[in-house]
Amino acid sequence: MGPGARGAAGDHHLTGRAGPLEAGEVVLFLDRRGRRYLATLAAGGVHDLRGGKIPHDVIIGREEGIAVESSRGERVRVFRPTLAEFVLEMPRGAQVIYPKDLAMMVLWGDVYPGATVVEAGTGSGALTMALLRAAGSTGRVFSYEIRDDFARQARRNLTRLMGEAETLTLRGHDIYDGIPDVPIDRLFLDLPEPWRVVPHAAEALRPGGMWVSYVPTVPQAAQTVETLRAAGAFVMIDTFETLLRPWNIEGLSVRPAHRMVAHTGLITMARRVAGTQAAEHS
Ligand code: SAH
Repeated sequence: MGPGARGAAGDHHLTGRAGPLEAGEVVLFLDRRGRRYLATLAAGGVHDLRGGKIPHDVIIGREEGIAVESSRGERVRVFRPTLAEFVLEMPRGAQVIYPKDLAMMVLWGDVYPGATVVEAGTGSGALTMALLRAAGSTGRVFSYEIRDDFARQARRNLTRLMGEAETLTLRGHDIYDGIPDVPIDRLFLDLPEPWRVVPHAAEALRPGGMWVSYVPTVPQAAQTVETLRAAGAFVMIDTFETLLRPWNIEGLSVRPAHRMVAHTGLITMARRVAGTQAAEHS
């Protein structure tokens, strides 16, 4: 445990919290029009909502879901944000992976409690948070990032939602140079040239280990898949995308939403076969 690491009581950051809202926690204000705002509760703190004041002291010690009124009479509900809500509202350096893709990547990538996971790049830390939760208090997550400014923003976001996660190691490392933390169970990549990581992945992933990469364009996905195939160390190489279409349900107006996030990225999965040589064919 490093300095600032929390004991067993600190593990709640990985599993969520219940009970009264406490100072230091992040909350989500939900206004009547469905708009959302994040705030970190502080004793004596005040949230400014379009010129109206909401004193944090009327929230601290109360239950989630309470309604409070600003000094201008605007009513909001207060909740702990879900991980997905936090990711959508938190400050970003790099573009985050959307919750619809995070959900698919974590489940199809089979991140289990106790797993050792490597991720690059850290970006804003959205995927990192999802991985930390899924790997749980007995797992390890190593996240590499080449840009200091993004790494700093990610650390702020992570600490704000989860406290100091002792299962996380952030490294200022270029994954194209290799994977220093071995062996690993799962590898997650969100960077421009994932195919450059294929030889390192073949070395670092244990037999049965999984590759999960995320890219915005078709040529990137194609090059990733071709390189994974040529390596001879991977099978079950599949690419998919996730389309999530919200619905409007109001009286007779029961129909898909007019607008949706039409494109985010292509997810490629692969499974490491047994065999010590990366070049060995199955
Ligand atoms: N998945 C992240 C966003 C990652 S954006 C999230 O959900 O928040 C891509 C990041 O990869 C950028 O921050 C970029 O600086 C970093 N990056 C690019 N090439 C890299 C490399 N070779 N090694 C490590 N990080 C890299």
